[in-house]
Amino acid sequence: MDFKDYNGVWVFIEEKDGVISQVSLELLGAGRKLADKRGVELAGVIIGENIKQLSHTIFEYGADKAYVYDQSIFKHYRTESYMRALLECTNKYKPEIILFGATSTGKDLASAVATDLPTGLTADTTELDVDEETGLLLASRPAFGGNIMATILCKKYRPQMATVRAKVMKALDPQSGRRGTIIEEEIQLKEDDIRTKVLEIVEATTKKVRIDEADIIVAGGKGLGSSEGFHLVRELADVLGGAVGASRDVVEAGWIEHPHQVGQTGVTVTPKIYIAIGISGAIQHIVGMKNSSLIIAINKDPEAPIFNTCHYGIVGDAFEIVPLLMDQFKTA
Ligand code: FAD
Repeated sequence: MDFKDYNGVWVFIEEKDGVISQVSLELLGAGRKLADKRGVELAGVIIGENIKQLSHTIFEYGADKAYVYDQSIFKHYRTESYMRALLECTNKYKPEIILFGATSTGKDLASAVATDLPTGLTADTTELDVDEETGLLLASRPAFGGNIMATILCKKYRPQMATVRAKVMKALDPQSGRRGTIIEEEIQLKEDDIRTKVLEIVEATTKKVRIDEADIIVAGGKGLGSSEGFHLVRELADVLGGAVGASRDVVEAGWIEHPHQVGQTGVTVTPKIYIAIGISGAIQHIVGMKNSSLIIAINKDPEAPIFNTCHYGIVGDAFEIVPLLMDQFKTA
């Protein structure tokens, strides 16, 4: 197949209330590297209402171009309307590569767009590179239960598309005043054309710190024995002003909800301090927290694999150690 009409790297820019999500800024950083290697432009696609001014932010974070759909029909994210805009834009300008955050919106939109284009989608990527000669995107992700890294290529079709996990790529330092080209697009779409309607937005009421934004995470595993035992993790997190994380087994036991799960099928986190209590350190957990700046593990089994990853390890019973730590932290 001839791909000479396909050119440039694109990032789908996610925004909420006029603020660009961190993962989109990270993808602009990753996209910039890919674009430089290919000697092509980096563009962001911004869809929403009253969002044109965000173009200047994406230029500061490395984009050369912004494709903007600023229409009231895009006030709220809906798969159908956003998909129609992105499809139209893709068919018109033919990018070589499109990157999305592996967020609920990014995953939803990317898969919807991929089904309508003659191409595939690599989901949940954690490493990106490009082969300079062939232009092939090298999108890598953990496979076979996290035991190997698989690099997935899209040889026969364009664009090459991937969703990318938050916190694994680095945003560039913003260059104030850096400029780019804004291309304003408009799609002929009426409210009646869209089958979903947004009736009400109910904001989450929880005041707890989100694990993907926390500087300190206290995470608990099956070693805490029960939902009551897991309370120890919540208490220590409260004392330290941190967020609560968990292993998958804990989530499956119903001790805490899935947004708190750290790991391959949960969230990837990079806090300043990660305290793992009663977590064995299975590879699927480790891939989600191994880049934390300081990892402290508490486990009663001196052979637990978590001790191969942590910076400081305490061998002992969590029910003895954690109360002692809390006393110390409270008086510190
Ligand atoms: P266990 O492995 O049972 O470990 C409990 C630990 O607690 C042990 O090391 C024990 O020594 C210690 N302990 C017991 N009592 C005490 C005590 N009183 N004080 C101190 N320590 C104590 N897992 C994830 O976490 N995240 C994922 O995203 C994820 N994705 C997966 C995806 C796939 C495809 C698969 C196959 C698995 C996935 N898993 C994931 C599951 C993973 O393989 C492990 O099963 C899981 O992480 C184990 O959870 P755990 O460490 O809480 O429990």
